[in-house]
Amino acid sequence: MKVLKFGGTSVGSAQRMKEVAKLITDGEQKIVVLSAMSGTTNTLVEISDYLYKKNPEGANEIINRLEAKYKQNVNELYSTDEYKQKTQEFIKAQFDYIRSYTKDIFTLFEEKVILAQGELISTNMVTNYLQEQGVNAILLPALEFMRTDKNSEPDPVYIKEKLAAQLEIHPDAEIYITQGFICRNAYGEIDNLQRGGSDYTASLIGAAVNASEIQIWTDIDGMHDNDPRIVDKTSPVRHLHFEEAAELAYFGAKILHPTCVQPAKYANIPVRLLNTMEPTAPGTLISNDTEKGKIKAVAAKDNITAIKIKSSRMLLAHGFLRKVFEIFESYQTSIDMICTSEVGVSVSIDNTKHLNEILDDLKKYGTVTVDQDMCIICVVGDLEWENVGFEAKALDAMRDIPVRMISFGGSNYNISFLIREEDKKKALQSLSDHLFNNK
Ligand code: ASP
Ligand code: MG
Repeated sequence: MKVLKFGGTSVGSAQRMKEVAKLITDGEQKIVVLSAMSGTTNTLVEISDYLYKKNPEGANEIINRLEAKYKQNVNELYSTDEYKQKTQEFIKAQFDYIRSYTKDIFTLFEEKVILAQGELISTNMVTNYLQEQGVNAILLPALEFMRTDKNSEPDPVYIKEKLAAQLEIHPDAEIYITQGFICRNAYGEIDNLQRGGSDYTASLIGAAVNASEIQIWTDIDGMHDNDPRIVDKTSPVRHLHFEEAAELAYFGAKILHPTCVQPAKYANIPVRLLNTMEPTAPGTLISNDTEKGKIKAVAAKDNITAIKIKSSRMLLAHGFLRKVFEIFESYQTSIDMICTSEVGVSVSIDNTKHLNEILDDLKKYGTVTVDQDMCIICVVGDLEWENVGFEAKALDAMRDIPVRMISFGGSNYNISFLIREEDKKKALQSLSDHLFNNK
């Protein structure tokens, strides 16, 4: 069985819901995970903000506006009065429920209940639509099987058992619709898997039912081997290893968060990224297979700051790096690239909120130099150290570009360069020519 997940924009209007319905009704049994209609979760967060600030009037205004939007979509979605009425009643009940929270104290607990409404409504709308169309579709209530443990981590044993029980109630259904993002916590309270968590839901369900494939459908253009906005002649990336996908995630390549795909990776279930705007395109397949000797993609990230700490005290000393790293940790600033020599270390950061304090503290340990407006260029592919020639190829492409740092060997799948932002376009084009277009 396959598990398909559709994000907020893919179910963002009555029209889009109809398109999703068309895509999923092919006679094959499947589980479909849906997000809330786009913008809804943000609006529910906004409503909660007003309630935290004890402004029920502000909250009510937004609740009413959101409800009106849903009413209109319901009118457009269904062709029969029976389904229009049935769904309007459900939506009214959910909004009345949200309104009931404007009258009392508001805490994190109430907020989570409010945030859950988006997915509860979108899945109800789509299930009703499919049923109106005569499809054998069933709503699987995620709150009955999706659960986190005392460490707020998903509980795979519980999920597997309870999901199987839910599926058994309707063994012959063609389509099982369920809510992404929402769950119960170890205490049985309504909770969620964090923003964007619907992908996580799909991955957990895929692992629980040992799916043949997990499909993540969005309405954005698929993965390319380089940035098509900057480089000419890019090609779609058809296949990535889970680790390659994880390397690319930092670069905002429209790709899944590594935590979200971890259950799929461990269960060895391939994840396919697909585009609702181009449903017949093959998309990008992410799996545990490595394509030997292949460079897959190049990605870049701007607004990087490099910091170098040089100290003769570092030579033959132990604990030097720990002291340096602790400074970054104390300002909750994560380090991305690291390069070391015997007497110095360079690191890169992308969050400069506490840069001045960090620099001040670092001066205790050595001479500090800063380079701003830098850019990380990351080459991803089969870069296992025993392969020969690939480092040279990537370096050759950077021949005319001043390189501030090079990082290789951190994983089997990546080599990174830190360069000036102004050289980015040239570097990306040159890497594209050398690695993909054989110039
Ligand atoms: N609706 C949730 C959010 O916007 C979950 C998701 O879309 O993945 O964060
Ligand atoms: Mg989303």
